[in-house]
Amino acid sequence: MTSPGQDLLTITRRPDTVFASGQGAWLTDEGGKRHLDLVQGWAVNSLGHSPALITEALLRQSQRLLNPSPAYYNRPLLDLAARLVGLSCFDRVFLASSGAEANEGAVKLARRWGSRMRGGAHEVIGFEQGFHGRTLAMMSASGKPGWSEIYPPMPTGFAKARLNDLASVERAMSPRTVAVMIEFVQGEAGVVMADPGFVRELRALTAERGVLLIADEVQTGIGRCGAAFAYELFGIEPDIMTLAKGLGGGVPLAALLCKEALNCFQPGDQGGTFCGNPLMAAVGLAVVDEICRADFLAGVRERAAQLSAGLRAISRDHALQGERGLGLLRALVLPADCADQVVAAAQALAPVGLLLNAPRPNLLRLMPALNISAAEVDEGLALLRRALAEVLG
Ligand SMILES: *Cc1c(COP(=O)(O)O)cnc(C)c1O
Repeated sequence: MTSPGQDLLTITRRPDTVFASGQGAWLTDEGGKRHLDLVQGWAVNSLGHSPALITEALLRQSQRLLNPSPAYYNRPLLDLAARLVGLSCFDRVFLASSGAEANEGAVKLARRWGSRMRGGAHEVIGFEQGFHGRTLAMMSASGKPGWSEIYPPMPTGFAKARLNDLASVERAMSPRTVAVMIEFVQGEAGVVMADPGFVRELRALTAERGVLLIADEVQTGIGRCGAAFAYELFGIEPDIMTLAKGLGGGVPLAALLCKEALNCFQPGDQGGTFCGNPLMAAVGLAVVDEICRADFLAGVRERAAQLSAGLRAISRDHALQGERGLGLLRALVLPADCADQVVAAAQALAPVGLLLNAPRPNLLRLMPALNISAAEVDEGLALLRRALAEVLG
């Protein structure tokens, strides 16, 4: 048997499994084996696999209007923008298709504002280990070690500071600084949390210096952390925010939001063929309406408390290094660099497998569907115990 993927451009190592279908918390492969999925497309499938609500939104909208062109208004675009404005502290919305694209838009908007209001200030300060996407500029904005050496030369205008170290932000600031870009929880870095005190001080510092605060909520937004947006949990308001991943619930959809004072693109400055297409916007509207209700978000916090308690118990029993996270974005820290082995052992469990993600060699990241049931969380914890027992003995 040849391994699948021989016709694909090599980009990453993947298991040989080919997945055929998904329902809720479960993915089924072509061999018929079921897997409890705690990856969910990297925190994308906020309502699990193939939720009826998304199927219906896609069917309804695809029969009505697919794409009139970004040169014209369409109703789902206007409705989703209105809903996001109503839910957040922001006044203006631009829709895009990926997190990287929304983040590029955020940097463009900040630079446009800087050229008008701050005498050409254009530099954006990001954080070490941060992740903002895979376009060349977002690779420069990200703080992933080694990323500046893969595709030189890299776009310039990006400085770095250390998360939870305000003095490092002050050192990185100059008259050219236009914005600071932050993830409140650094997902790709291994669920590294910004301290609430640091975030408040950063907000005060940026406001005092006339520097914008850009919140990259591509991973943390739309209920993932137990609130509609993570910034609410830190008691501050950013100037600009980006969303993607969970916003589309599995379809490519992203958003760039800003305060009225930043509504400074001139016609033609920003756009994109698929930006604001009604098919994806209709899905986004259905997803947001479902997730951003008080009772749904309370359910996310309950499941998060259950998952966190279960992970703490596992950490105690297996002498691990603890767990952390916000809402249903959690990490379990292993005593050694064996995360890839645990991921493989978990997928290989029988009769059902468990899908996990290892963003660091010694760490597992768990990002279940936001509507995972209490029984499924317990089943996931039990499967995780079996996988850990196999690897750690
Ligand atoms: C995933 C992610 C991105 C990139 O989003 P894409 O849709 O993959 O372009 C950007 N920022 C954060 C915080 C992310 O988690």
